[in-house]
Amino acid sequence: MATYEELMEKDEQYFAKAGRISYYPLLIDHAKGATLVNFAGKEYIDLLASASAINVGHSPKKVTDAIKAQADKMVHYTPAYMYHEPAIKLAEKLCEITPGQFAKKATFGLTGSDACDGIMKYARAYTGRPNIVTFQNAYHGSTYGSISMSAINVKMRAKMGPFVPNIEHIPFPDNYRGMYGQAKPNSIEEYLAPFKQMMETYLPPEEIACVVIETLQGDGGLLEPVPGYFKALYDLCHKHGILFAVDDVQQGLGRTGTWCSTEHFDVEADLVAYGKSLAGGMPLSAIVGRKEIMDSLEAPAHVFTTAANPVCCAASLATLAMIEEDNLLQESTRKGKIAQERMKKWKDEYAFIGDVRGMGLSIGIDIVTDKKSKTKDSQAALKICNRLFERGAVLIAIGESVLRFQPPLVITDQELVKALDLIEETMNELAE
Ligand code: PMP
Repeated sequence: MATYEELMEKDEQYFAKAGRISYYPLLIDHAKGATLVNFAGKEYIDLLASASAINVGHSPKKVTDAIKAQADKMVHYTPAYMYHEPAIKLAEKLCEITPGQFAKKATFGLTGSDACDGIMKYARAYTGRPNIVTFQNAYHGSTYGSISMSAINVKMRAKMGPFVPNIEHIPFPDNYRGMYGQAKPNSIEEYLAPFKQMMETYLPPEEIACVVIETLQGDGGLLEPVPGYFKALYDLCHKHGILFAVDDVQQGLGRTGTWCSTEHFDVEADLVAYGKSLAGGMPLSAIVGRKEIMDSLEAPAHVFTTAANPVCCAASLATLAMIEEDNLLQESTRKGKIAQERMKKWKDEYAFIGDVRGMGLSIGIDIVTDKKSKTKDSQAALKICNRLFERGAVLIAIGESVLRFQPPLVITDQELVKALDLIEETMNELAE
């Protein structure tokens, strides 16, 4: 068997560097529930849930049984030419759990990135309009379309232009720092101003196909939109015939305590993208949208040979069933409250915690140089992550300085308390 050193050396030699945002030298051997076990047998509490891709935890029996049973029956046949039951059942289920009192249809892909690409395709096809509006600091994926929709990090886009044209990025209505990191606007009108000004000065609303937004801007730093903005934007879009699309790849499927995170905002999105946790870690994504929008493209406009793989669809059906049977939506809300209550106390205690925010088990802790200036302290955030790793829990910082707390929804109460204790110890050390 290869040693840790040999494997890491081979990784350096063969694994292309653009595919990994290096954090910890953690070579995982196996994982169960909320526990990761490294090559030497050391355990870590996973507070990242594989970037929110395993909401139901690592390798739950209900999901692995479904995977094994379907693999024995049929590993794959492309949905481009034939039909199979897991994909049909899953399309029905996703249409049921996605908010909206209207007929819907679903389509499948392999990653959150292709789902975001698809949103652009469907929105342009249905409206006949060319322009797409997304937000600064958004991460929508790594395919050419979704990378063009993203605006989070120059490294992501460097050396890669030209991008998919006609995509505008407007400021996200950050409830903590305001737009552009300047003084916080006072009213929803002020937050809507960049969008309105854009429509008045250079992008006529009748030429905008859709707006794509996250309910919590995940990789941007788990930013919360200012209260009221989401609904106001939705109303404004509908007034102008602009589709309202939500990228729920990270915040969906229980992460925030609801099936679809739009349920917190009194809106019924025209199009929703799902991915990550959709199939308990197996590669699967979906777009669910109004029937008439989803009927606006003809095959092969959105065909992927290995999409809607039956093993992945079976894993997804078992994942969604597990979320229901084990009350994981309620558990996400309950455990999120336990975590936030404790974290809000830290915010009062430690000068370097500027903000604690989020919904369900999707929580961000914003580390700052001081509370007044709200200047991001990426060095301190990194230090906390590294020290916490030494103590046996895995967390990363996003949006430069925001600790991303997104454990599997199945984390036990004991594990949750232990993880919070470890973070507190680490914070105490930093405060000394
Ligand atoms: N949308 C959002 C909101 C995401 O967080 C991500 C992944 N970080 C994606 C899309 C892309 O998903 P994937 O990496 O599966 O392509």
